[in-house]
Amino acid sequence: MKNAEQARLYALEQLNLLDTPPSESFDRLTRMASQLFDLPIAAVSLTDADRQWFKSRVGVDHREIPREKAPCADVSASAEVVVIPDLLASSCYRDSHLARTGIRFYAGAPLTTREGHTLGAMCVLGQAPREVTEQERAALVDLAAMVMAQIELQHAFGRVDPLTGMANRGQFDEDLQDLALDAPDERRAALFTEVVEASQLSALHRTMGPAFLDELTRVSAQCLQQAIGHDSQLYYLGSCQFVHLMAADSDAGLIDHALSLREHLMALESARQVPVLVRPVVGIASFRLGETTASDILRSAHAASLDARQMGKDAGVFSTELDERFQRRSMLLSDVDRALERDDEFYLVFQPRVCVATGACQGAEALLRWRHPVLGEVSPAEFIPLIENTPMARSLTAWVVRRAVRQAAHWHEQGKQLRISINVSATNLEETDFAERVLAELHQARLPADAIELEVTESALIGKGQAAASQLHALIAAGIRIAIDDFGTGYSSLSYLHEIPANIVKIDRCFITHLGEDARTRTLVSSMIGMAHALGYRVVAEGVESETALACLDTLGCNEVQGFLLAKPLLPSAFEAWLAGQA
Ligand code: C2E
Ligand code: CA
Ligand code: CA
Repeated sequence: MKNAEQARLYALEQLNLLDTPPSESFDRLTRMASQLFDLPIAAVSLTDADRQWFKSRVGVDHREIPREKAPCADVSASAEVVVIPDLLASSCYRDSHLARTGIRFYAGAPLTTREGHTLGAMCVLGQAPREVTEQERAALVDLAAMVMAQIELQHAFGRVDPLTGMANRGQFDEDLQDLALDAPDERRAALFTEVVEASQLSALHRTMGPAFLDELTRVSAQCLQQAIGHDSQLYYLGSCQFVHLMAADSDAGLIDHALSLREHLMALESARQVPVLVRPVVGIASFRLGETTASDILRSAHAASLDARQMGKDAGVFSTELDERFQRRSMLLSDVDRALERDDEFYLVFQPRVCVATGACQGAEALLRWRHPVLGEVSPAEFIPLIENTPMARSLTAWVVRRAVRQAAHWHEQGKQLRISINVSATNLEETDFAERVLAELHQARLPADAIELEVTESALIGKGQAAASQLHALIAAGIRIAIDDFGTGYSSLSYLHEIPANIVKIDRCFITHLGEDARTRTLVSSMIGMAHALGYRVVAEGVESETALACLDTLGCNEVQGFLLAKPLLPSAFEAWLAGQA
């Protein structure tokens, strides 16, 4: 007998029904029972170890009553329909909890699983004594069967994760659809909680094994469920990833809520319940019921959590703007190789560099352009930083060097005395064959080495170690000039300048554009030029947009200028026309 009860309780536990939030699929059946009997109270009542817990109820506020002297417990024990026409007339129930709360009538039909375990009862209750017709009894049995079918359906259709026993994404999907029917157009928020960062998860999987992750997920789920309250459904999405729904609120309100959930989870770690570093992040997506699919909601909330994590925040609200930026970034990154292959999306423009003293154009900077088939013209200021630290920097710079060298050779053959400068990323200098390949391009195009110049930023020159330095030395030894680009924005410490094998300093445009407008900037630029000259560099000012700035640079002894005042970056044909105009 004891064993049978244990098996029954185990079966009940396995179904993961106890202490789960109300669900419309059960409530519908409970309402039908109450209507059928024309009684105010009906419930789907499950018999736990020492309580009757209501999965669904109409007409009662509380969610459970003691098991002792509860008629539903009798239904469970006997697995038969129990009808008590008048509790006060029954020696057994006269002093029961129900009778004390004014209940007189009870009828309950057993909720029996396929395996023969009775989980509880589908019951109706009334405040007046009453009899039950054969038809009513049959209807109650039918409703109980429908409740069981519903329970089995949920499991059969994979709405419950078999490992954690939690409602899963399938259930989330269905509940959202139900909600959209009940409260169309109402606003809600989905909170996606990731307890441990995905990358850390795989490390944990490797060191601790999957069983550990299951346990971590289980403990986290318990903790979160406690934090959100037992009336809210928590859905399991994957290892340490959960989602739940909330009433709509302001962004600030939602963030506050998310942060308090996070506090709860952090307590797991301090309580040493988990031996790993927990860094939960909550992503929030607000939406209108019926307007967005479950999949879109989950994607948005997940994206919000990723963005928050990336920005070092603990919680974040989904931002279309951030998301679009991310989508755009991934699109650009994934399209570089294809664009290089197609060869008609990237192209170079050339911006003249003019000698301040003579006004003659002595060279031009090759600047990369991307005409993307979907996004249109994309600025290098946007895509270069994305690519710079990936292996694509190698092939992209190789493309630029080849094109620029060929263009330079073409102009060289026409007798134009131009030095073409090419921008190089820090990672390029870490390629052990970089100098070799540049020199091979020059050789192939039959262009002398002093007809090109490489622009490298300060940060690319500093702290890159011996490998980068040896590339630079090889390039210089071959006669190629090196320019320090964006000078003044990086370290710009005097101590390292003399160590850098370079010939030219290009003062960043942030110092030049407003030059002549205030004394401070003038002093800064003046001392940069003085210092660079003292160390033997030629000085180029970039971003010259006004006559005022140009005049000032002339006074300060700057050697060359580049900027919109003289010319914008131009296509080769336009560059040639501009050059002809200068002469
Ligand atoms: P940068 O090397 O500092 O290039 C100068 C940038 O300033 C260019 O922007 C140019 O169009 C712009 N500019 C020129 N004159 C003026 C002016 O008078 N006023 C203002 N406000 N801007 C001016 P662009 O072409 O958009 O290039 C942006 C950055 O992208 C470049 O900055 C460089 O860091 C990078 N980049 C461009 N082409 C390449 C390339 O082929 N390889 C690599 N590695 N980086 C490149
Ligand atoms: Ca440059
Ligand atoms: Ca620059």
